[in-house]
Amino acid sequence: MVLSRAITLVESTLVSDRALAAEVLEGCQGQSGRGFRLGITGVPGVGKSTFIDAFGTYLTGIGHKLAVLAIDPSSERTQGSILGDKTRMERLARDPRAFIRPSPARGSLGGVTRATREAVLLCEAAGFDFIIIETVGVGQSEVAVHDMVDFFLLLMLAGAGDELQGIKKGIMEMADGLAINKADGDNAVRAREARAEYESALHLFPLASHGWQPKVLTCSAIADQGLAEISEMINDFRMVLTANGWLERRRKEQALAWMHDTIGHLLMDRFYGDPTMVAAVKAKEILIGDGKIPPTVAATQLIELYLQQTAQ
Ligand code: GDP
Repeated sequence: MVLSRAITLVESTLVSDRALAAEVLEGCQGQSGRGFRLGITGVPGVGKSTFIDAFGTYLTGIGHKLAVLAIDPSSERTQGSILGDKTRMERLARDPRAFIRPSPARGSLGGVTRATREAVLLCEAAGFDFIIIETVGVGQSEVAVHDMVDFFLLLMLAGAGDELQGIKKGIMEMADGLAINKADGDNAVRAREARAEYESALHLFPLASHGWQPKVLTCSAIADQGLAEISEMINDFRMVLTANGWLERRRKEQALAWMHDTIGHLLMDRFYGDPTMVAAVKAKEILIGDGKIPPTVAATQLIELYLQQTAQ
């Protein structure tokens, strides 16, 4: 499939692939941006794969073309194994209206984030109007995903008394909506109680300037319950933030942040990719280790050296 090959190209860390990747992305510029981007996070075991399988199937059932991407640089689960992700989402894997792309397993979070952002553009250009980006609810990758999506959904579990512990407060503050999963069987009542608790917890946060009050819903991914309500919540969000201009504004801010991020990464790649600099950095590391030079002085000298090098 052409889309898979194009994503492999933008994921490539080979310098020789970057020029072609840039050309492909430029060619897509007019076609991308039309999809709705949904970020999903939650601790391992909360049911993300099961939920994406169920919710994704719901979305394709109401006519969407869905692409599922993942950011998970830490995982042993992915290791570039397409089969791994396909078996996690069995229904979607067989769904002709869905495309599943596993997380690029190699590379730093920065590299994986860049590749995923570019993959979003490629999926949109290929006609996918709904993009789900999944991340594991531990660490920095949720910030990265939050910064590239329109709606950030946090999946949670109802637990006895530990409602607010499993997930960091900062992540809750980033969420546009919460869904308490596994609201089935004996757990259904607890899930409803948890919903009320989370709702009051969210009301303690100041209302975001875009005016959207995050909502809390319950669902059962395994029983296909609560999916329509989640879809409705996302639609409401989309209508409110489209009408008041915030969705467009968020996208513009994300695009600017992306450019600045990229400048940083490109400079770092060049700096650390230069053999003279690698040797010079090593030498400074020894001096710093011996307490012979302050780190900021070493950094300034290295930058000076790099600028002299590139000026030649
Ligand atoms: P992930 O690690 O967040 O991707 O979680 P998984 O989707 O792999 O699910 C972890 C476990 O929870 C699996 O055994 C699922 O079958 C189970 N699970 C997922 N969703 C539900 C649900 O809605 N209800 C119940 N009872 N179990 C669920």
